[in-house]
Amino acid sequence: MWKGVKMKVLVLNCGSSSIKYQLLDMANESVITKGLVERIGLNGSRLKYQVGDAQYVVEQDIAGHSAGIALVLDILCKGPHKVIKSLNEIDVVGHRVTHGGELFKETVKVDAEVIEGIKKCISIAPLHNPANLAGIETCMKLIPKTPQIAVFDTAFHQQMPQKAFMYGLPYDLYKKYGIRRYGFHGTSHRYVTERTAELMGKKAEDLKLVICHLGNGASVTAVKNGHSVDTSMGFTPLDGLIMGTRCGEIDPALVGFIMEHEDMTVKQVMRYLNGQSGVLGLSGISSDFRDVEDEAIKGDERAEMAIDAFAYQVEKFIGSYVMIMDGIDALVFTAGVGENSPYVRNKVCTNLSHWGTKLDKERNEHGDKPRKISTDDSKVAIYIVPTNEELMIARECKRLLGK
Ligand code: ADP
Repeated sequence: MWKGVKMKVLVLNCGSSSIKYQLLDMANESVITKGLVERIGLNGSRLKYQVGDAQYVVEQDIAGHSAGIALVLDILCKGPHKVIKSLNEIDVVGHRVTHGGELFKETVKVDAEVIEGIKKCISIAPLHNPANLAGIETCMKLIPKTPQIAVFDTAFHQQMPQKAFMYGLPYDLYKKYGIRRYGFHGTSHRYVTERTAELMGKKAEDLKLVICHLGNGASVTAVKNGHSVDTSMGFTPLDGLIMGTRCGEIDPALVGFIMEHEDMTVKQVMRYLNGQSGVLGLSGISSDFRDVEDEAIKGDERAEMAIDAFAYQVEKFIGSYVMIMDGIDALVFTAGVGENSPYVRNKVCTNLSHWGTKLDKERNEHGDKPRKISTDDSKVAIYIVPTNEELMIARECKRLLGK
């Protein structure tokens, strides 16, 4: 369905001090080149990129997103490692945009109105949307004839029923500021939904899935008939699971308590909950799950407690999502931890027997990805399905331009 059309898509993911990119050939959905601009506006800025198996680094001052994207475009079409003859070969640029609020329920082609909409969402995503917008505006200047497409991290969750997205706060706050659950990682959850359905030889519309995207940032989503019906992240990506450095869901009264007792301002407490908490804060070792897991296996009690608390929360979300969907066809693990940690998957899957689900020990520990890791007689399938947000964005570009 997706292959066979000649189209080159540049996918851009602009963060506050970084730009990740991939150039994809949609004839066979292959990656022509990919790279990362790091430390934008800081000392030691550089571009790392890959063509085939070869890796290269360009170290130079990169003052802002504009300079970063200009450098990427130059590398793509000039010099010894160029992969295209001219920038005209890029048919479309797909931008990852973090927050589309309630304005964007699907992928859109960028125009003046879309830019205004993304700007409006800055109030609810002050850390992410400005960088995404800088990427879009820079491309519009540097390659004005190339269509720009915005793919929102929140869009996949926009069909959640209202009862799932309302907080128990005065309704006025929803009307005034758009305070509600939005959910994130939508592009990943959508890709994994489609890929899982493909692996099961079924249509996504006929499936009930629980998808565990477990990376530094982590979220669980209930996907029923191809749509997200609930998800663990909320108004911001701080909610839901304990993550690498984020606290996840906590009693809201704690925000005031910590501010008072630790003498913190609003900004400080937000930085604390976003950057010093989670598995890092619990273990006192690292935000990197691999490091914490290694220490837990060696017998460090705090490290084991941190991973246990994380896995327990994943279990709780899975349980509640099976309940609200009135069943489940497959449980799916994706992202850095979900794809690579048999240890975490094993902890998450200890209490599945009441729904006739069994993790296969050997399949959990060894094998290629994607793969099924449940036993043959398990009533519910368990899968590892690597996510691919860039490919999902490129497919969205192709789908939209094909219209
Ligand atoms: P993000 O995109 O949110 O930054 P990733 O999805 O790349 O994160 O996941 C990164 C996390 O995955 C890190 O904490 C890393 O330690 C963890 N991870 C990667 N490989 C393994 C592994 N083999 N075992 C346990 N954790 C792993």
